[in-house]
Amino acid sequence: MRVGGPARYFFVAKNIKEIREALSFAKDKKLPVFILGGGSNIVISDQGFNGLVLKPDIRGLDITEDSNGHLVSLGAGEQWDVCVQKIVSKNIFSIENLSAIPGTVGAAPVQNIGAYGVELKEFIDSVEVIDTHSFEEKKISPDECLFSYRDSVFKHLEGKHLLITNVVLRISKKRKAKLDYKDILEYIKEHPLDSGTLTPQDVRNIIIKIRARKLPDMKTVGTVGSFFKNPIISKEKFNALSHIYRGLPGYVVSNDKVKVPLGWIIEHVCKKKGYKKNNVGVHDKQALVLVNYGEGTAKNIKECANELRDDIKRHTGILVEFEISFIGEF
Ligand SMILES: Cc1cc2nc3c(=O)[nH]c(=O)nc-3n(C[C@H](O)[C@H](O)[C@H](O)COP(=O)(O)OP(=O)(O)OC[C@H]3O[C@@H](n4cnc5c(N)ncnc54)[C@H](O)[C@@H]3O)c2cc1C
Repeated sequence: MRVGGPARYFFVAKNIKEIREALSFAKDKKLPVFILGGGSNIVISDQGFNGLVLKPDIRGLDITEDSNGHLVSLGAGEQWDVCVQKIVSKNIFSIENLSAIPGTVGAAPVQNIGAYGVELKEFIDSVEVIDTHSFEEKKISPDECLFSYRDSVFKHLEGKHLLITNVVLRISKKRKAKLDYKDILEYIKEHPLDSGTLTPQDVRNIIIKIRARKLPDMKTVGTVGSFFKNPIISKEKFNALSHIYRGLPGYVVSNDKVKVPLGWIIEHVCKKKGYKKNNVGVHDKQALVLVNYGEGTAKNIKECANELRDDIKRHTGILVEFEISFIGEF
């Protein structure tokens, strides 16, 4: 979304040496460091960031093959969707459901990006990082990443100081198209396809079309995509709510937990789909998405998000979490 004021210092680092130089600079000046990818999942304070913004721009996309599958090594500064297109063009079924997600490779493990029934964690072989405190390089295993729904160690105290420099994916040769997500099934119903000749590119094209219907055009409005995480609640709570709010969808995620699409609650319970206030508001095609119509400030966005959060709590008792990060003073 990138509204907000400037950073005190801004560094683009093309390699590990330049990252170390930028970190030393910040250490000498006792500045806080913020690691920036493409800025698509952050809202920056109107006062800006009083520290050093470090953008790792390490490039590289390397695909190797062994008897089990493919290993794909991606530099943190690569655009995520460019990498998806490259893998798809090699006819490898894998991350095609994660097509058209804005941002860089380095940010992808941070919130374990996910879409249409697929999450990045399914493919992570290792994540290479540099510790911004000790300046040491490390290789983090998938277990150490502590991935869960839109979450990982990199969002928490134990891992916030780790700057991701490279991501290695492992893709099994057995991987097939994953089409069992509601929106994809609906699309296929409307546009029948020949599953015998289906390619990763066909699936990517479907995903891009579905996303274009639901998400705002980033060229015309500011957005960070989904603003909140879909809440995961107990079955008991879900049953009680669906008694009050008929038609409330829910997806069972474990024996006693259900994930609820928050967009449905914002639309049908809070009645806030298409809501507008102070030049910001709730997208009229997908209520989980907040949009900035041009003149909205970071403060306006935070207020709108807080208002929605309070509304959701009042109607359902659910305290939702932000999926995005607020940077600087609010
Ligand atoms: C229109 C739209 C649609 C979206 N759809 C989806 C979706 O379907 N699924 C989904 O999961 N997300 C979605 N998103 C969210 C966003 O695309 C992802 O979170 C993406 O990974 C952010 O990448 P970025 O490079 O822009 O990260 P930024 O916004 O720059 O940063 C996000 C976080 O990652 C940290 N970070 C960035 N780079 C690094 C690094 N190299 N090392 C360590 N930390 C780092 C930052 O400090 C920050 O905390 C959407 C966003 C938009 C605007």
